[in-house]
Amino acid sequence: MSAEIKITKKHYKKDAVLCRVDQVLADPAAAGVDVAAEYKSLAESYRKLHHVLYKTLAISDLYQQESKELTCKLEETLQSFQKLKEVALPICMICHKIRISYDYWEKLEEYFAKYADIAFSHGICPECTKVTYGKLGEQVLARLNDDNNQRSPEKTKEPEEDDSLKEMRAVLEFAAASNNPLAPDLEKIVKNYAKLLRRFIKIVSLGDSYQSQLREFNLRLELMAHTDPLTGINNRGYFMDLLGVELERAGRYGRLFSILMLDLDHFKSVNDTYGHAAGDQVLRSLAAVFQAAGLRKSDFIGRIGGEEFALVLPETDIRIAAEVAERLRVTLEKTAVQHNNEVIYVTVSIGISRFRVGDTQETLLQRADEAMYMAKEKGRNVVCLEP
Ligand code: GH3
Ligand code: MG
Ligand code: MG
Repeated sequence: MSAEIKITKKHYKKDAVLCRVDQVLADPAAAGVDVAAEYKSLAESYRKLHHVLYKTLAISDLYQQESKELTCKLEETLQSFQKLKEVALPICMICHKIRISYDYWEKLEEYFAKYADIAFSHGICPECTKVTYGKLGEQVLARLNDDNNQRSPEKTKEPEEDDSLKEMRAVLEFAAASNNPLAPDLEKIVKNYAKLLRRFIKIVSLGDSYQSQLREFNLRLELMAHTDPLTGINNRGYFMDLLGVELERAGRYGRLFSILMLDLDHFKSVNDTYGHAAGDQVLRSLAAVFQAAGLRKSDFIGRIGGEEFALVLPETDIRIAAEVAERLRVTLEKTAVQHNNEVIYVTVSIGISRFRVGDTQETLLQRADEAMYMAKEKGRNVVCLEP
């Protein structure tokens, strides 16, 4: 909470009990009780508690205002969440694989029903979750289970008593034991304070949980912004950003790198023969093959057009890149894509260019594209280097 807490007149009002204390102190004989010194110290404690109570009210006001803002944020978040459910949820946060089928997510929800808010809302696929939990071990699973149980409303624990509440209860006990006439009023105040404290703690914990949800959603939105929803690999925009960074690095430090432009052969006829859904399945499967083809961690791929992909190989000479491309071409040629009862084979034409000082994303891709068209002219399913 960033704002400073100030108790203003709005928050601080003498209540009826306090007025009576003042009256009794002003004229004990008229009140008909022997108050004197004991009463005076009780009144002093009471006054302190009263101050604490109004301070708490002030804090509560501030939190109410914050909770209104949080509610607005939550609504926005829920709207994003709807979008995420449709688009981003099928992307596993860990392996980044795309999971389109609703069956898959239903199974996941069922499988992790107990940990729904942990595994499912984090968009982690069962394989990855199993691996993660496997690493964490049974103990952690048991703890997650406990946490989940404690989170259910019927098992909500009473919040810990704070020091003011303890102090109030002690004063109340003392007042009740000594048959103090203010004891019933004091009891009401203590009850109210305890209620307020519970509300306050709830608001704080709600605020915390909204904030962590927002962080989570932002992470996923970021992932969504970088990812091609069909194949789960980098989209064109993000690929161009990565390529920009690589160009800058190579230019500044005099390094080299190569880029492969891959275009599927006669892909239109795949759609025409087997249908668009089969075509989509081919794109997903082949994108996974391209992604796995990256030899090093620093290699990166992107879907830059409908059935066009680009692969960047940093620190790689064009001759080595040609060997990588040839291996990739052969692997792809042998890759059988299963769709319903059909088995589909597709080939790819690959063009390669190397980084030259002064290159931009456009010039580099343009040369790789020209090399790729040479491969098409040579009859397809071949690799060509830029001239
Ligand atoms: P070429 O060997 O000359 O590259 O022939 P081609 O048929 O692959 O080339 P063309 O550019 O004529 O056709 C590309 C096809 O890719 C046309 C389009 O329907 C298909 N396509 C593009 N994006 C998608 C997609 O997201 N899903 C599916 N199923 N097809 C796509
Ligand atoms: Mg094309
Ligand atoms: Mg094509």
